[in-house]
Amino acid sequence: MSVMDKTGHPTRLICPLTASSVEEMRAEMIAAVAEGAEMVECRLDYLTPPPDDEQLADLLSNAPCAVLITCRPRREGGRFSGEEHHRLAILAAAAKFPRVEITDVELDVPPEDRPATGPILLSHHDFQGCPADLDDIGRAMDASEAAVNKIAFTPAGPDGALRALDVIRACKKPTLALAMGEAGVLTRILAKKFGAWGMFASLHAGKESAPGQLSLAEMKHLYRWEAVNDQTRVYGVIGCPIAHSMSPAIHNAAFEATGFNGVYVPLRIEPGPKSFNAFLDAARARPELDLRGLSVTIPHKENALAYVGADHCDALAVRIGAVNTITIDEAGSLRGDNTDYAGAIDALCEAMNIPREGLARRRVAVLGAGGASRAIVAALRHYNAEVTLYNRTLSRAEALAEEFGCSAAALSKADRTEAQIVVNCTALGMHPNVETSPVSRLSPSVRVVFDTVYNPLETRLLAMANSAGCLCVSGLDMFVNQAVAQFERWTNLPAPRDVMRDVVRGRLHE
Ligand code: NAP
Repeated sequence: MSVMDKTGHPTRLICPLTASSVEEMRAEMIAAVAEGAEMVECRLDYLTPPPDDEQLADLLSNAPCAVLITCRPRREGGRFSGEEHHRLAILAAAAKFPRVEITDVELDVPPEDRPATGPILLSHHDFQGCPADLDDIGRAMDASEAAVNKIAFTPAGPDGALRALDVIRACKKPTLALAMGEAGVLTRILAKKFGAWGMFASLHAGKESAPGQLSLAEMKHLYRWEAVNDQTRVYGVIGCPIAHSMSPAIHNAAFEATGFNGVYVPLRIEPGPKSFNAFLDAARARPELDLRGLSVTIPHKENALAYVGADHCDALAVRIGAVNTITIDEAGSLRGDNTDYAGAIDALCEAMNIPREGLARRRVAVLGAGGASRAIVAALRHYNAEVTLYNRTLSRAEALAEEFGCSAAALSKADRTEAQIVVNCTALGMHPNVETSPVSRLSPSVRVVFDTVYNPLETRLLAMANSAGCLCVSGLDMFVNQAVAQFERWTNLPAPRDVMRDVVRGRLHE
């Protein structure tokens, strides 16, 4: 079902053009249409010097698509620093060209000074925070002569960003409301689901006209612009930092490949339970958001367990003390899982061609005593493997060993291990320190080596294992497995594993 704004028009994908000369802006216009923009925003305030009538004609006569005209003054985050009457004269002159569909005028411009030709988009921007009177601003815009409302603000976190989606719903006129910055990215991706008048996307990275703006390619190819509609279910990854997470690419590709009506967004949430809880509370208070699942990564896995509650979590996830997957059903009930341990154990067992129970009594050396180690040790012990933990900081290994009933030793002793299976859960060998390895040699007892590090795909440790004739298991399998498990839990569909694996491989090669 396609989504319409309040005039029955589909949400427009608008590319802001920020070149400093008319010639370049004209070239950007053509490039934007080729990239899939349905409208361009000519940011006349970026042109230096400001355009005269002849230059406006060069730019706007025969434009290849509908045009939104903006000449933003400095007081509202723009670049125009001349006299206000000059700025308004430029807007009035530009508004007369036939392809100019609408002209952006700031809310603080008195009604009698606004251009008389053509419809107006009345705008308000806050680059510092979220206006306390956001609803009043929306009401004032609704009461004006403008055809379209635009409100952009800067939230402290994704919970505050959701206010932009409230504004789109509450306003009676077609409205473009968005939250700027990394915390607001979800409002850009979900604009179409909420029937916004339009949404901005830059020509390419580096050409953004506002913080947090995604590119046309990201909107169309990564965040499924064409597919999103009012029925689309929303998923996301919560973490901090989150900018380099591969999860949006993996899950959106999986939705695309299976035709599942979902979209997966990045959610940067500051460390600590307060911000985690605030987002979950705010999202669950808005059933119209259709939030149905979350991946949870560092530093929020413990917060996720606490929020969902042990009674609603997988028993081993509770034992590990970390939830990396939240599933929300139609009624809004939550369930917590840990697909990290399942992904790791299954990667190992599939490579060894044994069921999980086949791990019983196998001698396993786990290198490292951090979060990944904890999940894997809990699962190995659950299936009765005999585990020795090796860690640089011996006391950490001893504490974990005591909790899960294993033995502990210093990492320096790992190259004399008597284990049959070695699992590396340290960061050693990971890009950019690709020459490092947690052990300098593999002892003769070792037959299987599983490196949880997946960047690079073949670590120094795996190369060593390969030359020693060991069975090698890469961190890629663990990473893909945990995402596959999340997809299947959320959608009840078989995951397109090969598509998901190719996305990770592609990203690693970039
Ligand atoms: P973590 O909690 O920070 O633990 C890091 C571990 O690495 C600790 O045991 C630490 O030892 C050890 N370490 C770090 N630098 C070291 C060094 N220079 N020399 C010796 N030991 C060192 O991190 P984590 O979340 O467990 O992640 C660990 C690794 O697992 C990551 O690097 C990642 O590659 C991998 N991982 C993979 C996946 C996957 O899906 N494939 C998922 C999660 C994690 P100390 O206790 O002495 O500091």
